[in-house]
Amino acid sequence: MNPKTVIGFVNNRQGSIMDFSVDAEFQKQVDWVENFAAEEIEPLDTFMRTRQDADGNELTRDQWRAVFRYIGDLQQQVKDQGLWGFHLGPELGGPGLGQVKLSLLNEILGRTRMGPTIFGCAAPDTGNMELLAHNGTEEQKKKYLEPTLAGKMRSAYAMTEPHAGEPGEFKCNANRDGDDWILNGEKWFISNALAADFLIVMAITEPDAPTLERASMFIVETSNPGVEFVRNIHTFGTPFTENLNTEKGRGGHAYIRFNDVRLPSDALLGKEGAGFVGSQTRLSGGRIHHAMRTVGVCKKALDMACERALSRRSKGQVLADKQMVQADLAESYIQLQQFRLHVLYTAWLIDMTGSYTREIRKEIAAIKISAAKVMHDVVYRAIHLHGSLGMSNETPLGDMWMSAPWMGIMDGSSESHKENLAKLMLREYEPCEDLFPSYHLPRMQEEAAKKFTVVMKKYASNSQ
Ligand SMILES: Cc1cc2nc3c(=O)[nH]c(=O)nc-3n(C[C@H](O)[C@H](O)[C@H](O)COP(=O)(O)OP(=O)(O)OC[C@H]3O[C@@H](n4cnc5c(N)ncnc54)[C@H](O)[C@@H]3O)c2cc1C
Repeated sequence: MNPKTVIGFVNNRQGSIMDFSVDAEFQKQVDWVENFAAEEIEPLDTFMRTRQDADGNELTRDQWRAVFRYIGDLQQQVKDQGLWGFHLGPELGGPGLGQVKLSLLNEILGRTRMGPTIFGCAAPDTGNMELLAHNGTEEQKKKYLEPTLAGKMRSAYAMTEPHAGEPGEFKCNANRDGDDWILNGEKWFISNALAADFLIVMAITEPDAPTLERASMFIVETSNPGVEFVRNIHTFGTPFTENLNTEKGRGGHAYIRFNDVRLPSDALLGKEGAGFVGSQTRLSGGRIHHAMRTVGVCKKALDMACERALSRRSKGQVLADKQMVQADLAESYIQLQQFRLHVLYTAWLIDMTGSYTREIRKEIAAIKISAAKVMHDVVYRAIHLHGSLGMSNETPLGDMWMSAPWMGIMDGSSESHKENLAKLMLREYEPCEDLFPSYHLPRMQEEAAKKFTVVMKKYASNSQ
């Protein structure tokens, strides 16, 4: 048994590699984003929730146009700061901040709903842009990546199927017909699909190949004949006030059917059979970005809990003076700090190696699992501490609570990540060939006694 306990990197830069400070220039950007989020984005979030004017009337078409122009203006302010698409490297027009700085900015955006849209880093476009950048031909980049980067096209990523969320079980397939491909099958819970100009679809092209070599990715324009929107799905918490069996539902996730959709040969994204492997770039990036924003959500819930604890009284005391409340606040703080450091550590590892190595995939699986648990626990405690107000729809806590279970499902269930994490961990170990384990005390005692018989003899003669 000889596992590596720490991954070490030789630091060729000046300063300590364990330095938690940021440079003054970047701190200015952090301050700007923090202020912009509080002054501009949080009020926009509140407005977009009610979508009404000051008299409680639904917005007219013209009022909506004005709101969208205002959003465009906010996006321009972000561009003027050089922060548009801050997840992207300079080769794609982004500032190339690296993952650690990205984490710190994403924490701030995690406190908001519209933040990622205003900063040009909203899922699923972000991941799809990464996929196009890594796998696309020059032509595909020009046609799809550039307009998506500029915010002129929207996209969606279609992998999950109604009967299965796991690659080995997928059925949606594409078969060759001359130079073209014919796509058939169904995809489910595809975020943003109704608003998308194109989808990146995972389809089985080589059913007899090993699982991870069976699928290829295709760029499918949503206007293509044969792309059928069966319906648009809400997550729970949204009232069932409309006909669910219609594509016009306002839910953010689509059920899509492909009926003999003809695709030209240049719709293939990346190599044939390399779909699952290629998708790892997208999914790994997406998972860590979600984790970064989860830190922000949890920090906001904890801030709310602390303020409430100091403000609310019960039995002659503020809640903050009650030991059980203190214990809950302390638990949330510890969980959040541990999680945050793990996210930053993973981000730092990516910055150091510049890729999603096995070591990094292990850490990403771990933070993906913790994100669900930490968000659940911290948000629950904050709701509980707010009492009846916490149960109401008059705080942001309800929204946070609704999205807490998402974290354990989207981009793969916690169970499948635990399975993967354990497999990656276990690759660092070997079984013990003996009947009893390496750390069996009787054998260690026997070996130590043998060693020390020699040691004692040697040191005894040295002292004479
Ligand atoms: C908000 C949201 C947005 C999404 N957006 C998209 C999108 O844009 N595109 C897209 O393609 N998909 C999307 N999805 C779907 C998502 O990727 C899948 O839901 C996820 O991969 C899990 O698949 P599933 O729903 O089929 O669950 P299943 O795989 O059926 O898992 C259900 C349960 O089975 C158990 N289970 C599963 N695997 C294991 C295992 N290995 N070991 C032990 N137990 C296990 C667990 O209890 C798990 O929770 C989205 C989902 C959500 C919630």
